[in-house]
Amino acid sequence: MAAVSLGLSGCAPQSKPNVTPRRPMLNLPPVLASWDRVIRTTVGLRPHRDAGFVLRADKLDDKLLVHNYGHGGAGMSLAWGTGLMAAEFATAHQSRQAAVIGCGSVGLTCARQLQRRGFAVTIYAAAVPPNVTSNMSLAGFTPSSGLVVTDRRTPEWDAQYRRAYDIAYRQLQLMAGNPIFGVSWLDNFTLTDQLSAPPPPSPERPPLPDGAETEREVFGPGEHPFDTKYAIRSPQIRIEPSIYLEALMRDVVLFGGRIVVRRFDTPRDLASLDEPIVINCTGLGARDLFGDQELLPLKGQLTVMVPQPEVQYHTNGGLHTPPPPGSLGIHMMARRDGIVLGGTSQRGIWTLEPDEDERRRVVESHIAVFSAMKTAHTA
Ligand SMILES: Cc1cc2nc3c(=O)[nH]c(=O)nc-3n(C[C@H](O)[C@H](O)[C@H](O)COP(=O)(O)OP(=O)(O)OC[C@H]3O[C@@H](n4cnc5c(N)ncnc54)[C@H](O)[C@@H]3O)c2cc1C
Repeated sequence: MAAVSLGLSGCAPQSKPNVTPRRPMLNLPPVLASWDRVIRTTVGLRPHRDAGFVLRADKLDDKLLVHNYGHGGAGMSLAWGTGLMAAEFATAHQSRQAAVIGCGSVGLTCARQLQRRGFAVTIYAAAVPPNVTSNMSLAGFTPSSGLVVTDRRTPEWDAQYRRAYDIAYRQLQLMAGNPIFGVSWLDNFTLTDQLSAPPPPSPERPPLPDGAETEREVFGPGEHPFDTKYAIRSPQIRIEPSIYLEALMRDVVLFGGRIVVRRFDTPRDLASLDEPIVINCTGLGARDLFGDQELLPLKGQLTVMVPQPEVQYHTNGGLHTPPPPGSLGIHMMARRDGIVLGGTSQRGIWTLEPDEDERRRVVESHIAVFSAMKTAHTA
């Protein structure tokens, strides 16, 4: 598609767009959205702290204890970065034997970062993939999603975040394209009736390295198949959780690591481990294990439809009305295991039972978005 990039800088919201298509319509295979294609609904509890993730070294009796938890809706995105920084805390210790507690995205990537630095690693976890929150994620590269409340950020935390962001973004790029990791680039379309300039870079939303975020391409009326006035295309990294987590577990073992299923109820239980270094990657589990009452769940729910291998894109939004207060905008991610529909974030809700009202809202909304989609044939 020979589409021309449109600069948006300084664009005010536009109410009267140019309705003459300047390019042939983007030809995208439609998502077949219907209730009879739904194959499952999953629930995960994002480990959120208003003050953001915890990444610091501590002591547990004579052990070095490194905390690396509380990644909110960004734990698939940022984990390689916080994992590297946790490994740096560990290298200050003379031992090269580490216990990683937790086998989600955060624990597995941290284990790999430790192994790359010469550590012998054992992962201990109450649950392993697929039975971890990480496997319930969408997952795109969303490094600031549900992560921190603006007025709780500190310059020190921002610096950690910025570094974790850069490291993780580059690491995921190295994995992209190798099908064994389930990491790949795909087009993200933001579907909207209003054009506005991209938000300026801020500590919370730093620019992507290498200018990748500047690649926004606006398709106007008649140039894209969706029912909204505009479709804004940008490249995005997709992480397919079940493929990714399995590959990381295989890599941990390939590099001599062990994975042991074991639950810890108190920090005392951890003190009995042989390893002199313990890295806490327990996500929401850190609330009970270490008494961090600031951790709370942001309940997220995904409904999955039958896979459509021909669909290789991600959408955000698409309705003409804003989402109800407290809801996320709706989004669709095409993955090898299905067409995944999301758009929920319920603060402080602990149940893993699907919320039927939210399920209906998300599925019906996507049926509306995709049934209005034109193909080159119907346009
Ligand atoms: C619907 C939804 C969509 C999401 N989309 C995205 C996205 O697009 N991009 C993104 O980056 N993130 C996304 N996330 C967020 C992401 O899933 C989390 O940030 C991430 O899973 C956190 O990883 P974790 O390893 O800290 O936690 P988990 O995956 O929960 O792993 C925690 C591990 O610790 C173990 N553990 C806990 N307590 C104990 C204990 N007491 N003893 C022993 N082991 C213990 C658990 O058994 C588990 O192995 C999404 C989440 C949801 C729910």
